[in-house]
Amino acid sequence: MLLDFADRQFKWDTRIKQYRVTEGAGKGSFISREAILRLTLDSIENNKGNLVGLADELANQRITLKEFQLEAAKQVRLIHTQQAAIAAGGFDRVTPEMWLSVARELQRQYRTGRNIETGQRYGLKWLCEDIKNGKVSLPQLKQRLALYANSGKASFWEIDTQVQFNKGLTHGIRKLGATHRHCVPCLLYASYGPQPLTSIIRPTQQCDCGPNCVCTIFAMSIEDAIAMSGGVGILA
Ligand SMILES: [Zn+2]
Ligand SMILES: [Zn+2]
Repeated sequence: MLLDFADRQFKWDTRIKQYRVTEGAGKGSFISREAILRLTLDSIENNKGNLVGLADELANQRITLKEFQLEAAKQVRLIHTQQAAIAAGGFDRVTPEMWLSVARELQRQYRTGRNIETGQRYGLKWLCEDIKNGKVSLPQLKQRLALYANSGKASFWEIDTQVQFNKGLTHGIRKLGATHRHCVPCLLYASYGPQPLTSIIRPTQQCDCGPNCVCTIFAMSIEDAIAMSGGVGILA
């Protein structure tokens, strides 16, 4: 898959499992990890308008609640599949196992999701129930739809950790995102040393920021993990 980023195009290099610029400035060079992470956010922002715009469509009765639910689900699916494709290095590189992970995440976004802390359901189905019962104002609806758009990050991190793991980067650390507002769990996760990638809590999960979390995971080899932690506790 070719991806457009700013005025450049780039493609996944299967040999070294990194994106390489194929057209435009810096042709032949590799795309930095930072640029890829920015791309995931740009991709979400590009699609967010369509999703949030459904709130006005519904408020102006241009669509029914059922149509709203179906269209919102479609937009959320589009965002999640794009995130998975960016993480995997293209749509054609997303394996059946990876699609299964995305499908599971989508099920949570559609109906099965529950906030671990509050026990509250957050799926689209329950949002529609709240709308039907007059519990959601227009500004609240827009805010909640923006959260569904941001939830796409969950699919990026799910697939990204699988890709990094397959590259032999079996460990990693949580890094705080570039914002001054972090919840306590995010600060705590970032304070841990290197851990096995499979047990690192993914950004957006189990924290108060939820889909708005901008933290990242930096993956590394077990050798680097041992060097960074002085050999203490990384297998915990
Ligand atoms: Zn947080
Ligand atoms: Zn965070």
